[in-house]
Amino acid sequence: IYNLPENDITWLGDYARQLEQEARALGTPLPPAVRLQIGEPSFRTPEHIRLAAVQSIEQEPLTYAPPAGWPWLRELLAEKIRRVNGYAVQLKNVTVTLGGTGALQTSLLATVGAGDEVLIPDPGWPLYTIQLAACGAIPVRYPLDPNNEWLPDIASMERLVTPRTRLLLINTPGNPTGAVFPPAVIADLLNFARRHHLYLLSDESYDQIVFEGQHISPATLLSSAELEEGHFIGVYTFSKTYSMTGWRIGYVVAGSQLSKTIGDVVNGSYTNIATPIQRAAVAALTGPQERVGEMRDAYHRRRDIAVRLLQEYGRYIYTPHGAFYALIDVRGKHGESRRGRQFALDLLRERNVAVAPGSGFGSVSAEYIRISLAASENEIERGVREICQFADREV
Ligand code: PLP
Repeated sequence: IYNLPENDITWLGDYARQLEQEARALGTPLPPAVRLQIGEPSFRTPEHIRLAAVQSIEQEPLTYAPPAGWPWLRELLAEKIRRVNGYAVQLKNVTVTLGGTGALQTSLLATVGAGDEVLIPDPGWPLYTIQLAACGAIPVRYPLDPNNEWLPDIASMERLVTPRTRLLLINTPGNPTGAVFPPAVIADLLNFARRHHLYLLSDESYDQIVFEGQHISPATLLSSAELEEGHFIGVYTFSKTYSMTGWRIGYVVAGSQLSKTIGDVVNGSYTNIATPIQRAAVAALTGPQERVGEMRDAYHRRRDIAVRLLQEYGRYIYTPHGAFYALIDVRGKHGESRRGRQFALDLLRERNVAVAPGSGFGSVSAEYIRISLAASENEIERGVREICQFADREV
């Protein structure tokens, strides 16, 4: 069942390393590297979070933990959902997972199987298709419209539904688009899922990285009976909010029965998340929150730098309202078609600037590249100038 298309993002990282090795072997230094291809925050995890893990390692018995997570953490997570995301859940609705990635994979394994069709955004996070392959399920992409702030067109989504459709996956704030779905769109998507009796899986990995507007979880529109009945799944992570990508901790929110199943999948897949990492998550939730706002402000400034430069070079860009990415249309000056994949390859080879080709996220973004705003201001400025000059050259 693991029959996957080539993954453009992994391919680009491998290619960057290969170029560096070749240049070193030839003794021809490359221009200074600019790395904008990956969504890895440039900030260190705050100190109080790091120290909580160290203390746990030193002082606690590091035995197996409960598969769904320690109750002291699940209780705090339910409280975070009530406070930040604005809907009522209890400990029994929360499962601690291996990052947002583990949250997505375990909830997909708990809900879809061989031959089931799953609606995923185009463009969307590349691992959705890999995760669905592990379930034997079939990805069906629904387009996000670059001419309408990268929002979905619900009317056209109707045509994609078949008797095999089981789940609708949405992602806002979105990777790679940076779109934050407005309340009316969230309500329409929820009604679409209700109408077709689909699970609604809401990937809210960037829930606390919003610059304009407000992130709204579809769960805020559900009655508590609907939430409990189990067709909604919310995915969250510590990776982005607290700059904890390498720690691998996230969580899923669902009805209590479905949460039990997800806990069983965690148990059968990797038993549990290590206790020191769960202690670090407690420190993140209960400690000072200033860093969260400071990091968000830094992404906001970087976003402004990128958008201003792109506009200076006359390149249209949708201004991302959240997450930390921007999609850049790399068509020629006169609108000539140009594949983002080839552009990314040439840009890396000739200017040593690494970006993610839009083709890695779906077909709608094939003539785009994605830059990450998680890199430093200096890198973003240099990188965006190179991208614009390179895109404007006559070919
Ligand atoms: N969902 C989206 C949209 C993402 O961009 C990412 C990470 O890049 C994830 C989920 C996974 O997050 P984590 O690093 O916590 O596994």
